[in-house]
Amino acid sequence: MTSNINEKLFSDFDLSTNIEYLSVLKKIVNESIHPAFLCSQIKIENPNYFSIIYSNNLFIDEFGNGHESLIGKSHDFLFEEIGLNYDSVDQNEYSRMIIAIKNKQEGNFIFNLPVYHRGIKEVLKFQLKLVPFFNQENKKTYLIFVFEKQNDNSVKNSYPLSQNQILIKTLERSLSNEKLLRQISYLIISDKTIKEISLMIAELICYHLKVDRCIINDIRDDKPNFIVEFSNFGSRYITYGDESVKEEDVKNYVIFHNEFYKKISSENSVKNNSSLFVVNDIRSDPAFYKFRKIYQDFNVFSEITAITSFDNKINGSIHIHCSERRNFNMEEIQLLEIISEQLSIAIDRSYSVERVMIANHKLLIRTLELKQAIKKEKELRKTQSEFVALVSHEFKTPLQIIDSNREMISRKIKNLNLVDDSILKYLEKIKSGIFKMNGLISTTLNLARIESGREKMGLNKVKFYINDLIYDIIDKVNNLALSKNISINLLNFDNPIEIFADQKMLDHAFTNLISNAIKYSRDNLSVDITLLVSNKNVIVEVLDRGIGIPEEDLKNIGKKFFRARNTLSVSGTGIGLYITKYFIELHNGFIEVDSKIDVGSKFSISIPLF
Ligand code: ADP
Repeated sequence: MTSNINEKLFSDFDLSTNIEYLSVLKKIVNESIHPAFLCSQIKIENPNYFSIIYSNNLFIDEFGNGHESLIGKSHDFLFEEIGLNYDSVDQNEYSRMIIAIKNKQEGNFIFNLPVYHRGIKEVLKFQLKLVPFFNQENKKTYLIFVFEKQNDNSVKNSYPLSQNQILIKTLERSLSNEKLLRQISYLIISDKTIKEISLMIAELICYHLKVDRCIINDIRDDKPNFIVEFSNFGSRYITYGDESVKEEDVKNYVIFHNEFYKKISSENSVKNNSSLFVVNDIRSDPAFYKFRKIYQDFNVFSEITAITSFDNKINGSIHIHCSERRNFNMEEIQLLEIISEQLSIAIDRSYSVERVMIANHKLLIRTLELKQAIKKEKELRKTQSEFVALVSHEFKTPLQIIDSNREMISRKIKNLNLVDDSILKYLEKIKSGIFKMNGLISTTLNLARIESGREKMGLNKVKFYINDLIYDIIDKVNNLALSKNISINLLNFDNPIEIFADQKMLDHAFTNLISNAIKYSRDNLSVDITLLVSNKNVIVEVLDRGIGIPEEDLKNIGKKFFRARNTLSVSGTGIGLYITKYFIELHNGFIEVDSKIDVGSKFSISIPLF
């Protein structure tokens, strides 16, 4: 009956709004079925100081302290007033309790406490439950301590184990604990997913601690991500928000966990890498009344919850359920603490791995997009280049017809022996126009070939004398030179130099350099062409005494469409040198420019002889 009253009180009572706050807390203590008392944080300036303000009669009866001797005492009462004679286990519990009090955290602690029945002292095992309450209005904190007598004092009566047996049992336990931790460590560094790791940890915990169920939660950015559950009925993964999961119990889990996390995060109790909540008897624990229905549905009597966090951020939890009463011992609790720390690291690591994978994925998609864009752009350029090449080629035929007809007219006129040779001059002008036009067409064709992809530009190497090639070129540009009265000096041309190269490409290159030298020279000057051989390379130098290139433009000479600022009044395209450079580099050669404005320029091409 009494426990029902307690349940009602806790479930109906909203702490944040009820002004009868203190009296309700006293009522809770009064109606507790176990010895209990209430502490209050009296001195606001010292938040760690709590003192006893109220106790129930059960407490007075059990521990034999009158109200007067208790009220106003600090929470150190266990040690000072009740006479806790702690051994090593109790000492541990005592320090855990002090930490919980300071953090205003819930907790369960096992103590051996002396009680007096009819004047006879007896040391009994108690579970001390600590439940904090927060009054939002006056910022005061209250703690209720409930002392639940444990039934397993029977150990005292059983046949005592010998020292050796105790030692062996302890050793066995440590070895098996160590094995479990090792297995978990291997799991964590394996390449399994965090879901798989969690499920295997849950299974290991169930077998090792002999509990009925282990649930592991993964929380991302304050939102539940997935649950894994291992129990006697099997195992499963549940991903939150998964539409296909409609079972009632799963929903309950979600509700329960959301509530649970809200509760612990609102009390700001998770400070360390892991926080543990041990509940030996959920049915009589006031803090769990709210969730009682769900616990009943899952048939839970005792539970440990370990909250895992990384960098002060909750990232998961482990819940261990027993359908029967279970008093978890310190060793088990500590073991779980270590496991939850390991799990918190594993979860965090999986975040990073996930983040890296997402980033990689994005990068991959971006690379694919770029590749596709490049492919498209290449195709487009290829089509354009092919079109340009086709059109340029089509120009050649009519030009050839014009040129051959010009040649025929010129011959006929010569045969007529006309005194007025002005017609011949006009024909010469037509000839140089055709030469320019042809140059332009081959430049455009070459550019189109380059642009449509390097693979098409294979070298068609043949053996020939470079001297002969240059003689031919001079023949072609002769008209241009004559029109400006420019003389061309050939230096070091006595020895024929044989070369193994693509003749058409070199024809373009030298024609370009020589015609530029003439084009960018003023009238009546001279151009020098020098041939040199050095280290199995032939060097062709074309030197003019023309307008030169401004210093600031020199670095850009040879770039596609680039024209120096002082040549804009002279017709040109800025492609010739780009193609020349390209062709020379295809031959593993290079081109150098040395120029001074209004003094002249020297272009040198160096290519291997073979
Ligand atoms: P184009 O002569 O048709 O403009 P080129 O690619 O052959 O194209 O040359 C690029 C630019 O380099 C020219 O526009 C000119 O500014 C400069 N250049 C090339 N040769 C000479 C030279 N001998 N003297 C001065 N400037 C030159």
